[in-house]
Amino acid sequence: MRLIDDHPKSTQIISDIALIIQYLQLDTDKLPPHVQNPSTFAIKIPAAFLGKIKRRTPNDPLLLQVLSPQILTPNLTDAPNHSYSLDPLCEKKFNKIQGLLHKYPSRVLITTTGACLVHCRYCFRQHFDYSANLPDNNFDAIMDYINADDNITEVILSGGDPLALSNRRLAHIIDRLCQSHVQTIRIHTRTPIVMPARVDLGLLDILRTALTQKNIVMVVHANHAQELDAFTTQTLQSIANLGVMLLNQSVLLRGVNDNADALIALSYALQKAHVLPYYLHVLDKVLGAEHFSCSTKHAVNLHWSLLQHLPGYLVPKLVVEEPDKLHKTPVDIYKHR
Ligand SMILES: *Cc1c(COP(=O)(O)O)cnc(C)c1O
Repeated sequence: MRLIDDHPKSTQIISDIALIIQYLQLDTDKLPPHVQNPSTFAIKIPAAFLGKIKRRTPNDPLLLQVLSPQILTPNLTDAPNHSYSLDPLCEKKFNKIQGLLHKYPSRVLITTTGACLVHCRYCFRQHFDYSANLPDNNFDAIMDYINADDNITEVILSGGDPLALSNRRLAHIIDRLCQSHVQTIRIHTRTPIVMPARVDLGLLDILRTALTQKNIVMVVHANHAQELDAFTTQTLQSIANLGVMLLNQSVLLRGVNDNADALIALSYALQKAHVLPYYLHVLDKVLGAEHFSCSTKHAVNLHWSLLQHLPGYLVPKLVVEEPDKLHKTPVDIYKHR
């Protein structure tokens, strides 16, 4: 029996670092005898995503997203950088009631679950206190909050990853939102990219039903064209075919996608999957992600390249999240050129 089921339709999740290293045939000479899985934000990689990583390639752009460099290069220590923090977006301040963030006037965000199928090493919510912030026992209060504010036109299901919930629980949340005045339900999820088989017939049915009452937007999260293999592409197409508006957000990550060729290839791979590029985020300064940082000048140069080489509709908006702003902030591409 194979320990890792790396078929594109696999639903297995791997957290055993030794197994991952063996499977990817990485050079283990440099590894300490007992590599510890970090206790606060464990290594967690779906086998379907592992299957997209090239073997014997320590700088593979997908691998770098999910395995801390400290594991491959144990002597590496990040110089402390005091601009990095546990809560870079000051989300605590916008946590109006348990399970809900209300930062931008017309949209609220529900942290549906702390669970996610993949742990990305740059995740800005890797230190988020989910224990005090799940909507589970507070859904009536959340609905009261939404119903009391006519300015709220859209509810975003986030997490964690809302598709880490069972279809039954997800259907329950979406049903309740369908009964409210909001026009749009948006799902922020990386699941179709990292475990496409989770997008089962039951989930497609939930989306199909909700579409009879609301706009449904799904924002997925891919950073590199290599993430969009044939089955992932087909899965995204099947979601788009329902009438769901499909968008992608990426994070600009050093070593992963910080070159024009990679970003251009990503946009075309998304187009094939019927997904429009939405945002390219400048990295949030969260502790643990320092090694992914790119300069603003480099980000701006990349954006100019994209403008030159892609049709306008395939150029993502380059934005940075500033904790005190009531919107994502477009990076000033004239100032930093
Ligand atoms: C990013 C974000 C949103 C959504 O912003 P859009 O610009 O509409 O994509 C909503 N609420 C919070 C708290 C966010 O961080």
